[in-house]
Amino acid sequence: MSDVSVFDPRHAALAADELTGRVILITGASAGIGRAVARSCAAHGATVLLLGRNVRALDEVHGQISAEHGAERAAIIQFDLENALARDYDALFAAIESRFGRLDGLLHNAGLLGQLSPIEHYDVPTWCRVLQVNLTAPFVLTQILLPLLKRSEDASIVFTSSGVGRSGRAYWGAYAVSKHALEGLNEVLSAELSGITHIRVNSLNPGAVRTTMRRAAYPAEDASLLATPESITRAYIALLGPASRGVSGGRFEAQ
Ligand code: NDP
Repeated sequence: MSDVSVFDPRHAALAADELTGRVILITGASAGIGRAVARSCAAHGATVLLLGRNVRALDEVHGQISAEHGAERAAIIQFDLENALARDYDALFAAIESRFGRLDGLLHNAGLLGQLSPIEHYDVPTWCRVLQVNLTAPFVLTQILLPLLKRSEDASIVFTSSGVGRSGRAYWGAYAVSKHALEGLNEVLSAELSGITHIRVNSLNPGAVRTTMRRAAYPAEDASLLATPESITRAYIALLGPASRGVSGGRFEAQ
């Protein structure tokens, strides 16, 4: 068992079969960091539930995992975190319960950048969309899936934060606010679950990573200097798997 104050997921020792037998749901698994983490989870033995909107992209990830590890090691969940209704969440729970009967990991990775703009001029509908996808959807998804996570002997929930989720920065608007709020959700939930369940809850900041979202935020930078999604997956595997057993309520860095 590790201590939250000394644990560092970047340097955790990982076995090749670190996640064997675990069922892990990853939101935003169709692209960027989520896709790389999904493939790495599968490579470490997990069965991965790939959630996103873009079915063609999800199919591609599913195909890669199937080819490398077998078709039973991945499943696609087409789901729109912006527009999903209560019945969609209920159907999601029922589908996972009937097919897998358990859930051992939940990575909230999907995210929306919104616009970079001063608060004075921030577009209100964009504000609502960003908070819906980045904050409210992770809350609802967590709530609906908690009964399944409770069945696991060693479950892990990971919220994806950001540098601007830990220290506010001008013009980052709803995105920065949503990530600050996720850190709050991380603290509240980990406090509620510690001692009464085997579920640990932590947040992880991926740092600057070469993805579509990063390009939208920093169009002029040299992307070749950035970390690739594939190069930062170790911290995710450590937080989702047994390496972080006993660690909850922490805020971690992937780089
Ligand atoms: P990308 O833009 O590359 O990928 C975003 C993912 O989120 C896609 O898979 C997309 O899937 C999914 N998504 C967006 N909206 C929805 C929705 N309504 N419903 C379901 N899925 C949705 O982003 P990154 O890989 O860069 O970012 C991943 C996470 O890391 C985010 O939470 C981001 O805030 C965070 N982060 C990234 C950093 C970076 O430098 N890249 C830095 C700090 C934090 P689809 O298109 O299929 O809907």
